[in-house]
Amino acid sequence: MSPFPPWWKRKLLYCFGIVLENTVNAPLTNLLDFDPAQLIAYCAELGEKPFRAKQLQRWIHQFGASDFDSMTDLAKSLRDKLKTRAFVAAPAIISDNTSTDGTRKWLIDVGNGNAVETVFIPEENRGTLCISTQAGCAVNCRFCSTGKQGFSRNLSVGEIIGQLWMAEFELRRTKGIEPGPKGERQITNVVMMGMGEPLLNFEPTATALKLMLDDNAYGLSRRRVTLSTSGVVPMIDRLAQEVPVALAVSLHASNDELRNGLIPLNKKYPLKELIAACKRYLQYAPRDFITFEYCMLDGVNDSDEHARELIALVQHPVDGINCKFNLIPFNPFPESGLLRSKNPRIKAFAQILVDAGLVTTIRKTRGDDIDAACGQLAGEVQDRTRVQERMGKMAEYQQKFGANFGKIVEIHS
Ligand code: SAH
Ligand code: SF4
Repeated sequence: MSPFPPWWKRKLLYCFGIVLENTVNAPLTNLLDFDPAQLIAYCAELGEKPFRAKQLQRWIHQFGASDFDSMTDLAKSLRDKLKTRAFVAAPAIISDNTSTDGTRKWLIDVGNGNAVETVFIPEENRGTLCISTQAGCAVNCRFCSTGKQGFSRNLSVGEIIGQLWMAEFELRRTKGIEPGPKGERQITNVVMMGMGEPLLNFEPTATALKLMLDDNAYGLSRRRVTLSTSGVVPMIDRLAQEVPVALAVSLHASNDELRNGLIPLNKKYPLKELIAACKRYLQYAPRDFITFEYCMLDGVNDSDEHARELIALVQHPVDGINCKFNLIPFNPFPESGLLRSKNPRIKAFAQILVDAGLVTTIRKTRGDDIDAACGQLAGEVQDRTRVQERMGKMAEYQQKFGANFGKIVEIHS
């Protein structure tokens, strides 16, 4: 056994003015990238007990703190250590617009000319945040503008959870509400329905989900967190094992031929396999239901016959699936060559499902005025600071992502 304490080498190097690589040269660690277990492991590396990790996590995710000096119940020595090795930061905000109906949308810079969006939808009894998991998307659905722009990259844990962290504390700041677990929570529900296919960025998405559910972070119930997928079957099974939050599946078609043309991924995971995966998922979440999203496309998937096919797909005398349907009026964009179904058609379609005993809702578009601001850079931008600069940046992104970048919707579940 060495006669010297474990820190002697470090001490000696400092005495001779040699700076340790891991304290100065190594890149700083963003603590938003860690789930609870990883933060405990990180603190252990710093010689700290697990309860310190919990304290640190509460400061970050419940108080929105990023300045280690403000974390007053952490020992000064730990704060000093953290200052030389770590930081807490969400990606930069490019624009921040609020609609007349209260919907607030942030465009977030995720580097190299890539941007994603985060949308807050306030309702009477809840506040829903819609977050993105990838910059672009590789699935390339025919009706989706994100798909049309191709895939850029996966978001990191910090970039995913950072959207919730930024939005919760921005919303509180705007309303003058104190941070902290007792402060009035603004975001009560999270939906992964922004840009990207969350199950094709599984690890960071699952880690971010664990943080959302953790009592020392956001403490959201797993039924208030919804992941939406185009149907990556093996990953639906993995999600069931690791973090079975509420599941929404983008169905959009009632048979394989139609779905193959709308969602190329269906050729790999056809409807039979997808429905079977949904049933397996419910075994892990027995009192839950699957939300089937169905984008209403004029003359493509909106006939009475399609509605009847859908009923046959999900209803079975012994082996039916506990589900709800959410009909989404298509948000048109020119390159798609598709049109939104007319309102009476959407209602008639919904009625057929309802008559068969299926809970069905029609999603209502919200925040249209800021969508327009996003599309046209019109005078709807509320915060006018550095507006020229932000408009320039927006123009750059719109050139890349298309003028109809993003959708704002109200989710009834
Ligand atoms: N990739 C995931 C989650 C992001 S898309 C998924 O596909 O489920 C979130 C929802 O918006 C999906 O149901 C998707 O089908 C729908 N959507 C995409 N483009 C749309 C459009 N132009 N109009 C209406 N809904 C759209
Ligand atoms: Fe990707 Fe979802 Fe858009 Fe399809 S609908 S391209 S899976 S983001």
